[in-house]
Amino acid sequence: MKRENKLIYLDYNATTPTDPRVVDKMLPYFYDIPGNAASRSHAFGWEAEEAVKIARKQIADLIHVDPKEIVFTSGATESDNLALKGIIELYHRSGNHIITLKSEHKAVLDTCEKLERAGAEVTYLDVDKNGLVDLIALENAITDKTVLVSIMWANNEIGVIQPMKAIGDICHRKGVLLMSDATQAVGKIPLDPKEVGVHLLAFTAHKMYGPKGVGALYVCSKNPRVKVSEQINGGGHERSMRSGTLNVPGIVGFGAAAEICAKEMLAEAPRLSALRDKLENALLTIEETYVNGDVDNRLPHVTNLAFRYIESEGLMATFNQSVALATGSACTSASIDPSHVLMALGLSEGMAHSSVRFSLGRFTTEEEIDRTITLVKNGVIKMRDKNPIWELFKDGVDVDNL
Ligand SMILES: *Cc1c(COP(=O)(O)O)cnc(C)c1O
Repeated sequence: MKRENKLIYLDYNATTPTDPRVVDKMLPYFYDIPGNAASRSHAFGWEAEEAVKIARKQIADLIHVDPKEIVFTSGATESDNLALKGIIELYHRSGNHIITLKSEHKAVLDTCEKLERAGAEVTYLDVDKNGLVDLIALENAITDKTVLVSIMWANNEIGVIQPMKAIGDICHRKGVLLMSDATQAVGKIPLDPKEVGVHLLAFTAHKMYGPKGVGALYVCSKNPRVKVSEQINGGGHERSMRSGTLNVPGIVGFGAAAEICAKEMLAEAPRLSALRDKLENALLTIEETYVNGDVDNRLPHVTNLAFRYIESEGLMATFNQSVALATGSACTSASIDPSHVLMALGLSEGMAHSSVRFSLGRFTTEEEIDRTITLVKNGVIKMRDKNPIWELFKDGVDVDNL
């Protein structure tokens, strides 16, 4: 991104810039082609409807599903809400039990908590120290009241990719539905929900170089035919699963972004993983630095590192926040809780607050990675130099148990 002050953006998991090619595709739909895709009686409406149809196909093609199985929403948060609430409401006769992971995104966890208050039962499974699901624990947790398993494809904080095929097999054998928040995976790695037995898949445009405020939920329409009950009523858009005038420019952008990802992700992933590995290897030469999460099953563009006895917020202050990073402290509210994902891995609060997520993306350059390495290395040395705890630790004192 062009910025005079040379800020470096390494927070692609929070949001991606909209690809300029996507913006170009969107622009006509603000003024020149202003129609409502639901207006059936004139050309303005037909043009908008046609544009939505093309985008729906571009998005469906990226994940190898039928365009009819795509429900447009305002983003992944809404898609997660629609899937969880929509399934529990519609399938309540079969049961009221959901199984998910402690390391899920808040869009899933907060929704589950709300459903619990409304009478649903939710099991929050532990993950192992690398962030992976325990397949045996999952299988054992499924009861005859279980209707839905919700497991994210890839984690937003640590990038860990779950074994979706094995999870899908278990759910299939036990006859329960499987949903996945695939927000961080779609457009970054090839994925096919039908092949692995995922019935509902949530994702969003702004994590894959599309615009903010538009997302989708894939809802499997055959073998089995799944439906979710509408959470936003009025008009019966999106096959009565999500009402409201479609965000035509946003959807056009989402489609364009999907098409670019489909074409480019296979080349983009190795370029980014090489840069990520360069960054990670350089930073791991700093003493007492650790990778959080599984390194073998991981998104290509993410690394989450813990720098022992460093406060990640303080580290960022050493370079005046000139590199945009996410810290292991919860960004969900004004509170400074340690990240629930890192806690789920079994990190101490201290190590969670010492953690930093680096997420690279399409516009990251090697020069930016080189500058980041220098800034972070110098920052860690500077902070430890004036930290008495670090001195004691180096002298062999068991500072964690003082
Ligand atoms: C960003 C993110 C969301 C929320 O997506 P929005 O489109 O911003 O609502 C949900 N789940 C995961 C895993 C995410 O990374």
